[in-house]
Amino acid sequence: MGTVNLDAHALTHVDPAHAKVVLVDWMLGNHCNFACDYCPTNLHDGSIDWISLGDATRFLAQLHAHYVEGLGRNLWLQLTGGEPTQYPRFFDLCASAQSLGIKVAVISNGSRTARFWEKAASVLSSAILTYHDLQVDHARFIETLRILEAAGVPVHVNVTAHPDRFENIMASAEDILAQSVAATLTVKPLRIGFGTELYPYSDAQMARLAARPRRVARNGDEVRKKAAWDFQRGLMLRWLSDGTTEKVRANDLILAGENHWRSFRCQAGLESLRVKADGTVYRAVCGSGGCLGRIGEDSLDLPVVPVTCDRDSCACVSDILITKMPPLSRST
Ligand code: SF4
Ligand code: SF4
Repeated sequence: MGTVNLDAHALTHVDPAHAKVVLVDWMLGNHCNFACDYCPTNLHDGSIDWISLGDATRFLAQLHAHYVEGLGRNLWLQLTGGEPTQYPRFFDLCASAQSLGIKVAVISNGSRTARFWEKAASVLSSAILTYHDLQVDHARFIETLRILEAAGVPVHVNVTAHPDRFENIMASAEDILAQSVAATLTVKPLRIGFGTELYPYSDAQMARLAARPRRVARNGDEVRKKAAWDFQRGLMLRWLSDGTTEKVRANDLILAGENHWRSFRCQAGLESLRVKADGTVYRAVCGSGGCLGRIGEDSLDLPVVPVTCDRDSCACVSDILITKMPPLSRST
């Protein structure tokens, strides 16, 4: 049994439409063509077989029946990994999702060929490209970004900032912003082993991370509006004790250590799902509420009510971007 965190505040979406979306963060295996030094081996060593297309399409049908037909929600897949674009049936999976009206996004290292991205641009509703400084081919990354932008796919770029290579990474981030017309960009602090503890950043580095690079105004205004309109969750509203609200970014809450909602009623499982590389399904990355079953199994038990948070920290951005309300017994 946890205690109520009296310093925590309710968190809701700035755009109420996002509360109707179930973002399915789906680790499509652990195969990857990169081997980043900060990435745990089991996230990229290919030790887990790819899911069969049959199990994947059965899962999509289950999601559609439960969330769209049952709860009147909208579904977004966020395919991640490993590197999801390495999945041999990538385009078949996207086609199955599209046939059910399910939108598809990827989190990718952006390293596939131009031909791949030209085809992907026709099936993706958005893309998050992650810039991994030691492995990336910078020119190819920019080429991928430009192909997606030219096709009108909203793109967000995450640049992972290892503290030992900070200045070079910040320079790369500035160059990416300069070369794109519409992408949004975050320089992300890294957590050790992708756990809850941040790498040891200096105070000056923390200040730079909080300030984040800004695009110089140029000819991308129309494209930028389109990107912001249809893009996935970003800003949240934090409800303060005097009844006022403030807009907050998940990244900033992590940097400030204000990411704790133990005992709150969290919409994880209703606004989000997490599928691990082994096919097990959870409400969110945090695992709160336990395992719901496995892809392809009839016994998969998808939620209809919120979960009470039992975690000390809400450690990752996608988990923070979920509605969290105070416990019912709490007087405010
Ligand atoms: S690209 Fe992603 S999955 Fe691949 S090694 Fe790097 S961090 Fe790990
Ligand atoms: S996503 Fe998980 S850790 Fe974060 S508030 Fe919800 S239940 Fe807690």
